[in-house]
Amino acid sequence: MKKHNFNAGPSILPREVIEQTAQAVLSFEDTGLSILEISHRAKYFQPVVDEAVALFKELLHIPEGYSVLFLGGGASLEFCMVPYNFLEKKAAYLNTGTWAKKALKEAKNFGEVVEVASSVDSNFTYIPKNYVIPADADYFHYTSNNTIFGTEIRAPFVESPVPVVCDMSSDIFSHPVDVSKYICIYGGAQKNLAPAGLTFVIVKDEAVGKVSRTVPTMLNYRTHIDGGSMFNTPPVLPIYSALLNLRWIKKMGGVEVMAQRAKERADLLYAEIDRNKLFRGTVTDKEDRSYMNICFVMNEEYKDLEAEFLKFATDKGMVGIKGHRSVGGFRASCYNAMPLESVQALVDCMQEFEKAH
Ligand SMILES: *Cc1c(COP(=O)(O)O)cnc(C)c1O
Repeated sequence: MKKHNFNAGPSILPREVIEQTAQAVLSFEDTGLSILEISHRAKYFQPVVDEAVALFKELLHIPEGYSVLFLGGGASLEFCMVPYNFLEKKAAYLNTGTWAKKALKEAKNFGEVVEVASSVDSNFTYIPKNYVIPADADYFHYTSNNTIFGTEIRAPFVESPVPVVCDMSSDIFSHPVDVSKYICIYGGAQKNLAPAGLTFVIVKDEAVGKVSRTVPTMLNYRTHIDGGSMFNTPPVLPIYSALLNLRWIKKMGGVEVMAQRAKERADLLYAEIDRNKLFRGTVTDKEDRSYMNICFVMNEEYKDLEAEFLKFATDKGMVGIKGHRSVGGFRASCYNAMPLESVQALVDCMQEFEKAH
């Protein structure tokens, strides 16, 4: 039976990316070796990094003066690296969910942190608006897509009087971004870009090196800018898969086409959630609904059907639709590689189940 992969992360990748990765594990280009057994300093690997960086810059229209880094440690290490490198006295954070809160907590180790707004009062079912960012903060940090709660800020940038840093782990390359408005954009690659083990960072070179503290070598963005992501051994295989995925995004028509596809998928599924008597969406402001992670629950009067629907859908090939424990219900993660047919298959499931009840 065909599986429809709605996993939240690690998650779906284009089939051709997986096949080409598998091929490179057996034999990498014409080296006669597996990509698993070559040096990251081998002459045939440098072009992989160079092309991946070039495609990042091309697809996101990254202006001059920015570096693209491929690191380890996950987005979670960036929660620490960001304040280490940018927080001198005070930083401002928008608290929109579990990951935003973790980033905020980490920053508190480095200075004063102002939580400009939070939607914790409603279990993060909306994005706070009309908050004030202190003009004397070193930077403002937000999370563009809240993977767990299914809210998203899709604006190409967020207005701020101070430099902006953004965790784009789960919506990178799914909509256009005005990179020039940020000093740092980072994320774990395992949601929308590559297999687990790779962290991407887009950093404005001139923003680095301004704090007065000593930053440990490995945690200093300068080290990785100067080292071209080769200061130590980078995650070779996930970088190669990321390159293949970036080529796929380009072939498909770029970020604008990814955004169009994301909207089509989301429109289809949200329309069914809103129509179907059994279900309702969990995000209260419709404009805040994520195109990447679509969260829904059973309506109150059908609550006891939850386990039954999960089994019904699973038997029909749906994978990974169980909601995160902090939200409950269901979450359909629809990342870049997700075909519309998979969303249609889930919608069909929901309609069939409704008819039976
Ligand atoms: C998954 C996720 C993280 C954590 O990423 P790791 O790479 O596992 O550290 C951080 N932020 C967001 C928005 C995420 O979705």
